[in-house]
Amino acid sequence: QRQPLFDALEQLADKEWQAAPLLAACPLADHKALTPKSAPKSAPAVVPAPTLQAVLSPQDTQQVVGQVQMASEAQAELAITCARAAFTDWRDTPVEQRAQMIERLADLLEDHRAELISLCTREAGKLLQDGIDEVREAVDFCRYYANQARRLMTTTLLPGYTGERNTLQTQGRGVFVCISPWNFPLAIFLGQISAALVTGNTVIAKPAEQSCLIAHLATQLAHQAGIPPAVLQLLPGSGATVGQALTSDPRIAGVCFTGSTTTAHHINLTLAQRTLAEHSLAAQNAAIIPLIAETGGQNAMIVDSTALPEQVVRDVVRAAFQSAGQRCSALRVLYLQTDIAERVLALLSGAMAELSIGDPALWSTDVGPVIDAQAQAKLTEHLNQMQAAGNTVLAQTSLPDHAQSGHYIPPTALTINSIKELNEEHFGPILHVVRFKAAELEQVIDDINASGFGLTLGIHSRNESFAEHIAQRANVGNIYINRDQIGAMVGVQPFGGQGLSGTGPKAGGPHYLARFITEKTITNNT
Ligand code: GLU
Repeated sequence: QRQPLFDALEQLADKEWQAAPLLAACPLADHKALTPKSAPKSAPAVVPAPTLQAVLSPQDTQQVVGQVQMASEAQAELAITCARAAFTDWRDTPVEQRAQMIERLADLLEDHRAELISLCTREAGKLLQDGIDEVREAVDFCRYYANQARRLMTTTLLPGYTGERNTLQTQGRGVFVCISPWNFPLAIFLGQISAALVTGNTVIAKPAEQSCLIAHLATQLAHQAGIPPAVLQLLPGSGATVGQALTSDPRIAGVCFTGSTTTAHHINLTLAQRTLAEHSLAAQNAAIIPLIAETGGQNAMIVDSTALPEQVVRDVVRAAFQSAGQRCSALRVLYLQTDIAERVLALLSGAMAELSIGDPALWSTDVGPVIDAQAQAKLTEHLNQMQAAGNTVLAQTSLPDHAQSGHYIPPTALTINSIKELNEEHFGPILHVVRFKAAELEQVIDDINASGFGLTLGIHSRNESFAEHIAQRANVGNIYINRDQIGAMVGVQPFGGQGLSGTGPKAGGPHYLARFITEKTITNNT
């Protein structure tokens, strides 16, 4: 099974990819209505030269993966105009047709698996296995949401106690802006989009700047699957320019965002201020719209003295270091009960010494690079600060010489006294370890809850009631007992957090689509 995939990946190893905005042509009437009255009518149309950005591989900055043409703010505005023009037809397209297109997209993803996996490793620095899992998850999202939409979007006849005919209808809301992260450049990108599309919204997708090539290919496949160009448009660009232009526009009907908590707060504020903007003609029409945000975590694992140390270490290594720790779900703070701590740490240090750091395209690699120079610098600074503050490094995998050519951070485990010492998410292969005494358990749970984040929590214990007690007390969205805490499966482990970790609803869960629709009750007394 693997050989044909490996052969295809080898052929793609040097391919240079291109990405550009995918905008639809459409009438400009709506667009003109939005032009501020003060704009000089005779101003010549200035078309700025497109910004081209070279994409360099995170594992080897000498390797060019492709070129991206970034979108402008003017294109963002135009895209909204087109998406609005296309909305009514798309909303009124039968759900069955939309679902079939999304399922066709799932088939196309499987047909183009090698290109997608190749881009996951080369553009986003993901391990081969992570790339394979990523395509699988994207396919799962498409199929799952297609089926959920069929269930959700049928008109329901309500009880007739009032003597009237009461029906409940569902429909898309309008133009959805989908802003996705680089750490799941395909799965989350398409998870958001497929949910918004299948429920009858038109979509403008703004992928993370670091993963536009894969987003471009995925969007092309969606168009090939039958989604009209005006129904799904792609705008590669920065959050500060394109993201801001999209989210501040009063014409959008919803935002789906995955990324940092700081950015989610900023988007929330921007959405609220759309109604406050003075002198803006369209501000009068700015509706109150949903923001679906899936953000960061300060994820802990609690290990008590009854746990199996070997199993704990296997799960800690996977949860903290797979994907170079670049998952929202990744383990950041390991709480070890003192009676078992030294045994676990000895095994952990042995396991970390064995990790192979290097080229994500090699099957033998355990930990790849972090996404870019900025991420590398931030993580390095955190490690330096922690050590300067007197925190002990318990174990650190050494980097091979060739790691100099890319953005690598050595997997590191270091001590801290409490989760309270961390006031932000450190998105990389850094594990903080806290020792606790049995009598301090309630305090540990309080501290985890007090962090304000609530995404994932791991519990290792053979004492069922202990594990159950923690699970009930913790304000966390995804809790995993006696396993690692990453890799939630679509439809089986709906994923998403609480508090600073996100708004819900959970991705890949039965309630996700509900936030993308609006409901209409029709009461007929004739
Ligand atoms: N769903 C992923 C997991 O369970 C994490 C998603 C993310 O990092 O945003 O590992």
